[in-house]
Amino acid sequence: MQFIDLKTQYELIEADVVSRVTKVLASQRYIMGPEVAEAEEKLAEFAGTKYCVSCGSGTDALVISLMALGLKKSDAVFVPAFTFFASGESVTLAGGTPVFVDSDSDTYNMSVDDLKRAIKYVQEETDLTPKGIIPVDLFGQPADYDEINEIATQHGMFVLEDAAQGFGSTYHGKRAGSLSLVGATSFFPAKPLGCYGDGGAIFTDDADLCEVMKSVRVHGQGGSKYDNVRIGINGRFDTIQAAIILSKLTIFENEIDARQKVAAAYNERLSDVIKTPVVKDDRVSVWAQYTLEAKSEAEKVDIQKALTDAGIPSANYYPIPMHLSTAYAPLGYKKGDLPVCERQATRVFSLPMHPYLKEEEIATICDIVRSSVK
Ligand SMILES: *Cc1c(COP(=O)(O)O)cnc(C)c1O
Repeated sequence: MQFIDLKTQYELIEADVVSRVTKVLASQRYIMGPEVAEAEEKLAEFAGTKYCVSCGSGTDALVISLMALGLKKSDAVFVPAFTFFASGESVTLAGGTPVFVDSDSDTYNMSVDDLKRAIKYVQEETDLTPKGIIPVDLFGQPADYDEINEIATQHGMFVLEDAAQGFGSTYHGKRAGSLSLVGATSFFPAKPLGCYGDGGAIFTDDADLCEVMKSVRVHGQGGSKYDNVRIGINGRFDTIQAAIILSKLTIFENEIDARQKVAAAYNERLSDVIKTPVVKDDRVSVWAQYTLEAKSEAEKVDIQKALTDAGIPSANYYPIPMHLSTAYAPLGYKKGDLPVCERQATRVFSLPMHPYLKEEEIATICDIVRSSVK
C-alpha cells in the first residue's frame, strides 16, 4: 500500500500530461513559456484572487512574498512552531526574526490565544517590532483567518497564508490562498495539488505587491532584463511543471470530493477509539494529511508498529516543533515553552491519504489501528 498514490492518478491523466509536455518539448520554451501564464490565470481563477505569481517551490513562494513585503532583523513574524520547517525558515531567509506560536489543541493550527500572548511578549519583553503573521493551513484545514486578520489589522501587521497543505480547502466558502493579504502554496508532488517536481504559487489581490513579487522572482528585475532594482532570487516555475499543473487542475475538484469521502470513511471507523481530526464547521479541509492523535507516545509507537508490520505506511508530521529544532537553538527556546505542540509532536501520526484510497484498504488500515489501541 502507498502513503500517497500518484500512480493511479497518473494513469487517469497520462494521455493529457504526455500531450501537454510534448508540446512544451516541441516549443523548447522551457523558461516562462506560455503554459506558465496560462497556469497562473487558471490558478488565480481557482483560488478566487486577482493575481497569481507562480514560482519554483512553496519555500520560494514564502520567501518571495516576504522579500516583497520587506523584513528587517528587528521585525518579528509570528509562525506556528508545529509545521514544516520552511514556514519559519522563510522568515529568516528574508531577513526577519520568527517568533514561534503554540497550536490549537484540536485543529493543530496556530492558537489565536497563544498568538495574542506572543505579540504581548514581543512588545513588552523584546526589542522586536510585530510585523507579520504566517498562519499555516496544517494538514489541509484553513487556520482561524477572521480572528488572525483582525489581530493583524489592530497591530498594523501583514498576514501571509502558508497554504502549502491547504490549497483546495475553503473557509466560509472562500478558497485557501485568498484568505489574507497574500497566500503561498506548494506544488511538491505529495501536496494536494502537486506537479512532477518542485513548484509553487503566490496569490494576492494587491496589484503593487504582485508587481514587486514578480520582480523579486527574477533577480529584482526592473523595466528591462539587466535593470536590477532590488535584490531578488531565481524563483521561476518551469514551463513543463506548469503544463503538468494545467493537467492536474482538470481533476482537482473531483479529487477534493474524493478526499472528503476517504476522510469520512476513516472517521466513521475510528472516532470511537482514537482522537480523529477536528474540522471546524465553517471550513472544508483538503486533507493533505489524515492525522490521528494517540493518548500517549507509547500508544502511538504501538499503532505505527502494527501498521508497519502489516505493510501499511504511516508518517510523523512533525516530530520536532520548530522552536526546539537545532537550527533555531540560537533563539533560546526551551522544552516546555510551547507545551501543546510539544505534546502533539509526540502523539500524532498520519495514515495513508489520497483520493484513490479504496474502501477495502481503509477497512484494513482501520482494523489494525482499532486492534492496537489500548
Ligand atoms: C511543503 C510545505 C512548504 C514548502 O513547500 P516546498 O514546495 O517543499 O518548498 C511550506 N510550508 C508547508 C506548511 C509545507 O507543508
